[in-house]
Amino acid sequence: MFAKIHYYLKSFLFLELLKGMSVTGRYFFRRKVTVQYPEEKTPISPRFRGLHALRRYANGEERCIACKLCEAVCPALAITIESEQREDGTRRTTRYDIDLFKCIYCGFCEEACPVDSIVETNIFEYHFENRGENIMTKEKLLEIGDRYEAQLAADRSADAPYR
Ligand code: SF4
Ligand code: SF4
Repeated sequence: MFAKIHYYLKSFLFLELLKGMSVTGRYFFRRKVTVQYPEEKTPISPRFRGLHALRRYANGEERCIACKLCEAVCPALAITIESEQREDGTRRTTRYDIDLFKCIYCGFCEEACPVDSIVETNIFEYHFENRGENIMTKEKLLEIGDRYEAQLAADRSADAPYR
């Protein structure tokens, strides 16, 4: 009986509506937490794993020594490497492809690399429009590395937070 009266009172007095309006009113004047992406962006951790890059040394020599550790450790089999010996006796890749459709951005390749060559940048705004663009070739990876080297070096320095 009491439950029924309570139910009818709630219905006639719009108690639930008023409760809802009070929540709306409470948050109406508070600081807004919605981020207006892409104009506004949230901070990214230096350990964020985004688009891959291949780095060079300061003298322009590519770091990768074609040891294939990254290829072996990749759980998604996304990396394909071919290599040959150069005239000076060093070994370098002739092909270094990452299939971004297979990649799960686990970061294992980056962790396995003994020379800090393959790394993941904090770039996450990219897309593909044509078939085959998901394959990141050595040239594309080196170009990204060249373009973002300053950021990559800073994120990997001893002073970087969360290292
Ligand atoms: S991030 Fe992980 S899945 Fe992607 S290429 Fe590297 S090891 Fe493979
Ligand atoms: S990127 Fe690093 S781990 Fe992969 S083949 Fe080159 S040197 Fe080896």
